[in-house]
Amino acid sequence: MTITINNRNYIAYLERFSKRLAEEKDYITELDSITGDGDHWVNMNMGFQKLIASKDELETLALGKMFKKIGMLVMSTVGGSSGVLYGSAYIKGAQTIGDKEEISVVELLEVLQAKLTGIMERGNAKPGDKTMIDALHGGVESMKQAIESGKNDKEILQALKEGAEKGMEETKSMEAAKGRAYYQANKGVGHLDPGAVTMYYQLATLADTLLEA
Ligand code: ADP
Ligand code: MG
Repeated sequence: MTITINNRNYIAYLERFSKRLAEEKDYITELDSITGDGDHWVNMNMGFQKLIASKDELETLALGKMFKKIGMLVMSTVGGSSGVLYGSAYIKGAQTIGDKEEISVVELLEVLQAKLTGIMERGNAKPGDKTMIDALHGGVESMKQAIESGKNDKEILQALKEGAEKGMEETKSMEAAKGRAYYQANKGVGHLDPGAVTMYYQLATLADTLLEA
């Protein structure tokens, strides 16, 4: 079965993720209280609530334009590092989508790679620095391998989810090289990075939404 990503299922994903995020308030806040300043959930929630409130407008836009709009909304609504980083990611993703009304799973990999590049450039960070990048990078690499070994769309999306989870898990033992955890005595070792956890939730929810459609 061929799976495509369009405006409609992407909005369904945004709605589903915003519910997932609401459920994880205490967990994410606790993680960011340990390794950062405790506001990561508030920042992310503010951004996604804004996107849900803008649903009627987002629905009228073609996929690429919707990504650009999401980037602009996130950047203007979300405080903290996440706002600028997610804003840059979506704007890069929009450039990759261009005028396409819908994209394939292989094209989704290109969009996720562009988002990864956007975050890495903006945050001047790389995989292994104990950030949201690790979950996204893990997902992208795993997805790439699945595509290269000829897997089908469902298997590729499953690989995205599993790779992102692995990338998130790996942040636990990492020493932070970026973000607030860097300024902690033990550089956050022994704790998951909150940004990697919310990134994993996003990728897992996106995969689930597309798999179940
Ligand atoms: P702030 O750190 O400004 O309080 P948030 O709490 O919203 O912002 O986000 C923190 C998350 O942002 C971290 O857990 C980490 O994943 C991510 N992060 C912080 N700095 C960077 C960076 N330079 N590059 C990539 N991700 C980063
Ligand atoms: Mg914070």
